[in-house]
Amino acid sequence: MAKKAYNDPLYQKNRKIVLEANAYTCHYCKGPANEADHIIPVSFGGGNEIDNLLPCCKSCNSTRKNKTRVRLKYWNRKY
Ligand SMILES: [Zn+2]
Repeated sequence: MAKKAYNDPLYQKNRKIVLEANAYTCHYCKGPANEADHIIPVSFGGGNEIDNLLPCCKSCNSTRKNKTRVRLKYWNRKY
């Protein structure tokens, strides 16, 4: 299911927008980012909207994959 979301043209499009808006800087480690992380994971009902995406590097993306609480904390603070 998650795989399908990542192949969504909306995700591809918004991923680029989010990366460009943040100068390709990872939200977590401030390193160079080339991916977009879902704040609310797709498996938790998160979508591919810009509001649900954060610039993220490959290593942080794989490290944070299951740390939903960290992301929800960010989400609550932002909204
Ligand atoms: Zn990172």
